[in-house]
Amino acid sequence: MDITCPRCAARYRLDPATFPRRLLRLRCASCSEVFRFDASGDAPVAPRPGMSPESLRWARRVARTLVQDIALYQPARHAAAWRRGDVIEEFESELTSAKRIFLDQVGQSGRAESVFAEMTETILRRRTPLD
Ligand SMILES: [Zn+2]
Repeated sequence: MDITCPRCAARYRLDPATFPRRLLRLRCASCSEVFRFDASGDAPVAPRPGMSPESLRWARRVARTLVQDIALYQPARHAAAWRRGDVIEEFESELTSAKRIFLDQVGQSGRAESVFAEMTETILRRRTPLD
C-alpha cells in the first residue's frame, strides 16, 4: 500500500496487515505533517486539530494492547515486580519501545503521551497480576 504525504508528497510503502484498523492516523517522517488515511482505498482526508474522541479511543486501544502485551508475555516477572512496587522501573526498556511504537502510530502530542502514561499506570501498576 502506497501512501503519499498530502503536504510534502513524500511517499511511503506500508503493509496494511500491520495496522489494527482501516482509518489510520499517520505522521510524515519527512515533514512531520499529521494526516489521516483511509486504508480501505481512499485518498488521505484532511487533518483535524487536536485529538478527536475517535482518535482518543483509538489511541487508548493501541496503548492498552501494547502495555497489556508487556505483562502478558512475562506474567511471573510482572507479578514479582508488582509485589515489590517497581513495575514501571522493571519494565522501563519494554515501556520505552512500546511508547515509541505507540507514538509512531498515533502521532506525537502531549495528549498522546498522557494516554500512554495513564494506560501504563492502570494496567501495569494498579491491576493485579495474572500470575
Ligand atoms: Zn510530509
